[in-house]
Amino acid sequence: MPGQDVSTTCPYCGVGCGVIATPTGPDSALVRGDPAHPANFGRLCSKGSALGETLSLEGRLLAPRIAGREAGWDEALELVARRFAETIAEHGPDSVAFYVSGQLLTEDYYVANKLMKGWIGSANIDTNSRLCMASSVAGHRRAFGADTVPGTYEDLEEADLVVLVGSNLAWCHPVLMQRLLAAREARGTRIITVDPRRTNTAEAADLHLPLAPGSDVTLFNSLLREIAARGAQDDAYIAAHVSGAADAFAAAAAATPEETARVTGLTPAAIAAFHDMWIGTPRVVTVYSQGVNQASDGTDKVNAILNCHLATGRIGTPGAAPFSVTGQPNAMGGREVGGLANMLACHLDIENDAHRALMRGFWDSPRLPERPGLKAVDLFDACATGQIKALWVMCTNPAVSLPRADHVAEAIRSCDFVVVSDIVADTDTTRLADVLLPATGWGEKDGTVTNSERRISRQRAFLPAPGAARADWRIICDVAARMGFGAGFDYAGPAEIFREYAALSGLAARAGGDFDLSGLTGLDDWGYEALAPRHWPVPAAGPEGGRFFAEGGFFTPDRRGRMLPLTQRSSPNAVSADYPLLLNTGRVRDHWHTMTRTAKSARLSRHLAEPFVEIHPRDAAAAGLAHAALARIESPHGEMLARVRITDRTPPGLLFAPMHWTGEWSSRGRVDAVMAAETDPVSGQPELKRTAVRIAPL
Ligand code: SF4
Repeated sequence: MPGQDVSTTCPYCGVGCGVIATPTGPDSALVRGDPAHPANFGRLCSKGSALGETLSLEGRLLAPRIAGREAGWDEALELVARRFAETIAEHGPDSVAFYVSGQLLTEDYYVANKLMKGWIGSANIDTNSRLCMASSVAGHRRAFGADTVPGTYEDLEEADLVVLVGSNLAWCHPVLMQRLLAAREARGTRIITVDPRRTNTAEAADLHLPLAPGSDVTLFNSLLREIAARGAQDDAYIAAHVSGAADAFAAAAAATPEETARVTGLTPAAIAAFHDMWIGTPRVVTVYSQGVNQASDGTDKVNAILNCHLATGRIGTPGAAPFSVTGQPNAMGGREVGGLANMLACHLDIENDAHRALMRGFWDSPRLPERPGLKAVDLFDACATGQIKALWVMCTNPAVSLPRADHVAEAIRSCDFVVVSDIVADTDTTRLADVLLPATGWGEKDGTVTNSERRISRQRAFLPAPGAARADWRIICDVAARMGFGAGFDYAGPAEIFREYAALSGLAARAGGDFDLSGLTGLDDWGYEALAPRHWPVPAAGPEGGRFFAEGGFFTPDRRGRMLPLTQRSSPNAVSADYPLLLNTGRVRDHWHTMTRTAKSARLSRHLAEPFVEIHPRDAAAAGLAHAALARIESPHGEMLARVRITDRTPPGLLFAPMHWTGEWSSRGRVDAVMAAETDPVSGQPELKRTAVRIAPL
């Protein structure tokens, strides 16, 4: 392969940029943006352009390990299969669990879900996408009847107004920000950001609304109220395509200007400017991300935004859509294959009898659970209580990334049998494993991913698998075969898995679903290898891709979109005399997740090299903190240390610390050791944007 250009996809954020990799050795490559990929047209951000610097084999897990010693694949796979089978036989299928990742490829995700739900017979498979996108999924399903993203990236370029809610797009989805700024240059697009912090994104905006944390429902209810007051709703669209409008408008009536100013802390002038710009601009896209999703009322926040678009019919037409942007490269693919504990593959519903019958018939599987499984936070709590006795973690690092991370680490440690398949030998989670299984990483593995705009792209291998590493789908199928389930898992490769999945999607679409790849069912191996980025749906007959809902056609039983009556709820994470500040978390520009890849690039670490906490000058003075000093941040759940950055970019009362840093056991930079694990009651997504804390000099 050396010297040959390979088109593939960046493994980081949900923008899903195409890259061209040119291998220069067994663990090195030159990487550049793919000018032909419709997500980025050749652009890359700092992380994507440094991918070639992160390919070394230093720190890689290159052979299976059992209790710390190297082992052969046969021994390790036999042990995993035997311990899972024994646990299931003794304690039932719900005594085991998989915790997977939006970094898995779609084909890996599909077989993991198939093994747990179709053959083991439990729905205890959940994913780190629960921490990222679950509230958007739940909001979409409530409003649209399916987890459908209505718009495309082109809408950001065709809009006259883009509202970014809880999204630091400039750092977290940089190429989308580049596309938006280029569109602004070309057509004068105006930008509003809604974020308590003055981020780099906010500094680029025409209007920044630094609302009080957690007051988004009130802000969007005030917009809905104003839409009604001005008669700006689309009565014809509502009459033809929407239910629940009257109740939603009635609930929004409580968001008077005075109440909105009180709850959000925004000035009446800023609120009025927001209303004027949004209502006065038919081509409006409202982008939302983790600041919306990671909340104890995240699903309501999503629906408050969707209500405004449904009320005005601003959905599914060029430049008009609500738009959820995903954090991870394959959060969407995971949702599509049923990687969440409350869904089946192809957006089928686990609690729908007909959907379960369809699924089981297609798989010809021995069993299928009838109820949702444990969602991420509950899943690890169940490890702590002994309900989950055997756990398999794939491609993620929950001992760092889950809230109450110390508790999660202890929960994993207390589990009878823990398997971790990963590319990295030493992480906070691999240290807790009984069996480590070496997986192939980016550049070595082969499959597909789906980005935030429903575009499916190939990730292609351009490097050999190092050591004994194997593809995740292969590892899962090898274990399934040893558990006696070989007939359902006898795949020659990812192309065969993809064909099966595409065929299933056709049946799901015929049953009324949104997700349809039936037009790709006939792809042969060559066609799969050559697959160009495709925007789903790809039906066997009819037009491909495009937007949803301009003419209604929702996926609810009556085919109408649903507006919901919403009221502002208060967060369970409130400040107190002991914990007087709120801690907010998020990404930095140049690192990814727990830094197992990006930390290999010295260039990327130059931007921000250590854990830090942003604090307003007033709060720093009150706590006796000097700029660049070390501080201890404590909550009832744990503590962390961080370098102090005094700045008015973060408002009084609110701290901000990044999510990336890891380290030794009970290490000091792990912000999620501090974070509470309160979850949204609908989506199960934890509130990673706020926990009550105190801060003091070290
Ligand atoms: Fe990769 Fe996201 Fe950067 Fe694109 S914007 S290069 S997908 S990290």
